[in-house]
Amino acid sequence: MEQGHTLLVRVHSSAPVTLTGTLDERDLAFVKHGEGYWALVGLPAWSPAGPHLLTLTAADGMGRAVREEATVEVVAVDFPVEAVALPPDRTRLLTPELVQEERERLAPIFQSVTPERLWDGVFVPPVEGEITSPFGARRSYNGGPPRSYHEGVDFRGEVGTPVVAANSGRVALAEALTVRGKAVILDHGLGVHSGYYHLSEILVQEGQWVEKGDPIGRVGGTGLATGPHLHWEVRIRGVNVDPLEWTQRLMLP
Ligand SMILES: [Zn+2]
Repeated sequence: MEQGHTLLVRVHSSAPVTLTGTLDERDLAFVKHGEGYWALVGLPAWSPAGPHLLTLTAADGMGRAVREEATVEVVAVDFPVEAVALPPDRTRLLTPELVQEERERLAPIFQSVTPERLWDGVFVPPVEGEITSPFGARRSYNGGPPRSYHEGVDFRGEVGTPVVAANSGRVALAEALTVRGKAVILDHGLGVHSGYYHLSEILVQEGQWVEKGDPIGRVGGTGLATGPHLHWEVRIRGVNVDPLEWTQRLMLP
């Protein structure tokens, strides 16, 4: 498994069981699906390469439990380093307090788990256009040391270009943020969210249901952006994963 990728853990059981598990220290959330159970897990871009411990415990209703362990081998990805020149009037947005404040404001949204799956099939790219910055790129702002991993992908786009929902779901946030600019976050269920940032215009409201391909906003350059583009990200229980993988393969059978 490569850093930043999505892992599907499937467990087959003919008898009803309660499944719990962990990858490293993080809990897995299992749901029943067809003949078995499964959980989606994001491997952070910063997961150290090497073996990671996956544990599974299956308990029946009579107090019997079986525990299994497995190893997930994480493979390092050579993420590029990008130099970003930020105009002086925007450097204020790099203030750690501002970044942290917004992170804390969004954490409960990304951590929330709607117990059913709201998406269907593969995701579609939210705009057509060239990718100007890939997932996982290390960012160096104004000559400083690389300070973060790029949490999504950036698409080139003209201001005003429609941005569509990558898949169906419910609007979890639709408002102007300081760092991310005008932002839309969709809840796709089972702890999966997608985010669309730096918009010039928001076309949906919190709580609204959207179908895959519905317009939700327009490309812009609001917030911490050096020019008009769409930042698009996918998170699993708060862990950013490469969103392009979600457009290339079916994450659930
Ligand atoms: Zn971005």
